Formats: sequence, structure tokens, C-alpha cells
Amino acid sequence: MLSMEKAADWAVDSQARAEGVAACFRERFASEPKLWARAPGRVDLMGSHTDYNLGFVLTLPISRDTWIAARRRDDGIVRVHSMNLDAADEFRLDGIDSISESRWCNYVRGVAATMQDEGLALTGCDAMIHSTVPLESGLSSSAALECALATVFAGLGGWSLTPERKALLCQKAENEFVGVKCGILDQYSSCLGREGCALLLDCRDLSTRAVRMAEGIRVVVCNTMSQRRLSGGEYAQRRSECEQGTAVLGVSALRDVTPEILAARRHELPERAARRCEFIVAESARAESLARVLAAGDRPAVARLCAESFVGARDLYEICSPAMAAMMDAMLAAPGVIGARQAGAGFGGCMVALVDAARTDAFRAAVLDAYYSATQVRPEIYPVEAAPGAELFDKEEITK
Ligand code: ADP
Ligand code: MG
Repeated sequence: MLSMEKAADWAVDSQARAEGVAACFRERFASEPKLWARAPGRVDLMGSHTDYNLGFVLTLPISRDTWIAARRRDDGIVRVHSMNLDAADEFRLDGIDSISESRWCNYVRGVAATMQDEGLALTGCDAMIHSTVPLESGLSSSAALECALATVFAGLGGWSLTPERKALLCQKAENEFVGVKCGILDQYSSCLGREGCALLLDCRDLSTRAVRMAEGIRVVVCNTMSQRRLSGGEYAQRRSECEQGTAVLGVSALRDVTPEILAARRHELPERAARRCEFIVAESARAESLARVLAAGDRPAVARLCAESFVGARDLYEICSPAMAAMMDAMLAAPGVIGARQAGAGFGGCMVALVDAARTDAFRAAVLDAYYSATQVRPEIYPVEAAPGAELFDKEEITK
């Protein structure tokens, strides 16, 4: 298992990381890797749970990413090793089964099986996986793994996939093979990123708009280090409460409901479904608004939108936890903070702050202290950059 210190170093030292991954590849597979792929994690700047309601999300593909070093095999066998889990898997491409005891293997097998089902001809490979996206923390390590892997298979085959197709294939793998009913947000973020930009994703028509943030604003991810229970019933329950809302309102998705329509017809909905719908309708509108004010550098508006999002997540959508409340207090009290809110699906995991870039270090130190004092848990704080989408890269460029 990779030590915490090394993982943190490698997030900032690409050269050490490339050499470390290559050394592990050599040790494990007794040869040199020939092809390298990377795919980013993501943090949502606005738009909690709007994706499956076909609304808007402002998402940031981040500089925390998953790397895969690979080499082609001609015998139809795939051997993979995850440095994060210190675990290995091996399977044949001509009969891929899922494994009930080991969930992580199914992300790898699922991508391979789904690509083959779509008629893409894969070759076997040896592959070493290393991620600086914290696992199961809401930054979408699962999509980063899937999208990096799809990039490897395409690269080894000598063909390419459009980013959109790659994202849809990976989502299908996670939905159908792994059995996690995620929306399209994670895979789209990981595949369609543009250097230096956030993406405003319209989850209905899957169009994206690159949004360049104003100078001087830094995104800082703050990990509560508390458990998420996404695979538990809460996520499915929120989805079904939204569906209750669409059924009563006679629309195919909450995307079709404006704040005005909802205000006029709210009384027709069961109380809880009404609160869920109110959050989603406002949150989707906030994603569009945040794209505008972040580009313009309107800091008071950023602060207000983030605050409204957190209050709605806590009181209307009920996806907050005590750890998230403590982190919110710590972030809002720290120097340089512009705005702060939840990230991912909620229920613990990571949160996100927009911070005055010049004061990132002071912000980080203050949040570490305040959150630890409140919870006796050491948080992890990751200042991140906007990163490009899944792609092959040249290891020599990094290590020379
Ligand atoms: P998130 O996507 O928010 O990080 P998920 O629960 O959706 O959380 O996905 C996390 C799972 O994805 C892990 O538990 C593991 O099974 C798999 N995974 C992601 N990255 C890696 C990795 N680098 N090595 C092995 N498994 C990984
Ligand atoms: Mg995931």
C-alpha cells in the first residue's frame, strides 16, 4: 500500500511519480511500460444531484488524476495492479466475468467488457494503476480509473474514441457491470476537461461549455475524511423522491420545472418530495449563475451562491453530516475564503472552497487546525488546478 506521505508528494512531483510507477511496473511485470494514460478526478463547483435530474452542473476536472502505465500483450490476457490498493487482477478478454468479492476489479473488467460489447477490438495488456484522486471521497476516482483504462485500450489498439463516446462507455460500465447507478457527470468531467477551465455541463443534451475562471481564484478541496455511504440507500432514495416530484408535476425530469412553476404547484407534492424538488430546481439555476459570476470574478456573488447551495443541501436535500458542518465552519472562518460548499453526493467525503489564490497557504493551515480542533480528525486539503480530459501522455516529457 502506498504511504500517505508518498501519495501526497506524488500529487505535486510528477517526475517522482512517473519513476515510481515505472519501477513498480518493472518489478511486477519484468518489462518496461510502453504507453501512459491519465484521466482526472473532478470536483463539482455547483450542482449537487442535478445530473440525474438532467439539470446543469459546473464541474472542474482536477489535477488529481489516475495514471496507467501499460504494455501490450498478444495472448488476450489483461493483468492489472493497483498501487493504491496494492492489489492485482488477471482475466482473459474472451470471457469476462464480474467478481463478487472484489469490487475494484469490476471497474477494470467492466470497461473492457463494455468496450468489447460495443464491437471494439481490444488487445491484452499489463497495466500499473496509480491515482492521486483519493478513493471513495467524492472526487470520482472510479470515473478516473475507467476513463484512463478506456484510453489505454484505445491507445494499445492504435485507434481513438471521441471523449463523448469514451465517457458514455465508461458510464455504462459503471452502471451495468459494477452496478452503481451514477449519472454522466463523473465520466464527462474526466473525458471532456480543457486546460484551465471548468465545464458547465447540461445533463439533458450533454453539451458542455468551457468556463475560464477569473484570475486570482483558487479551488481548494477539503476532505472531511468521514465515511460516505453512497452505495447505501440514501442516493437511491433521493432519486426516487425526485421521480415522485416529476410524476406529480407531469414532467419527464426536474429540469423542466422552473422556480415559478414549483412555487405555484408545491402544495400538490408530498412535503419531503417538495423540499427535494425545491433544492434541485434552485441548484441547477445556481450552476448556470456560478459559471457567469466565476468568469467575471464577482466574489460576493460567488459567496452567496455557495452559501445558498450548502443551506439547501443541509435543510432541503438533507445530504449533510456533522463532519460536513464542522468543515463548513472551518472553511468559512479561514483567511482568503471566497465561498464554500459541499461536493460530490454529500454524506461526508470532500467539500470545496473557492479561495483567494494569494492566501491559499494560510487558508489551508487554518482549515487543518480548525477542523482538527472541532473533530479530532485530520482533514486532507488539496489545492487543485483545472486539468485537461483523459489522454495519452509521454512519460519522457515528464522525466527528462
Ligand atoms: P469515488 O468515485 O467518489 O472515488 P466510488 O465509490 O464511486 O468513489 O469509487 C471508488 C472505487 O473505485 C474504489 O473503492 C475502487 O473500487 C475503485 N477505484 C478507484 N480508483 C482506484 C484505484 N486507483 N485502484 C483501485 N481501485 C480504484
Ligand atoms: Mg465514483
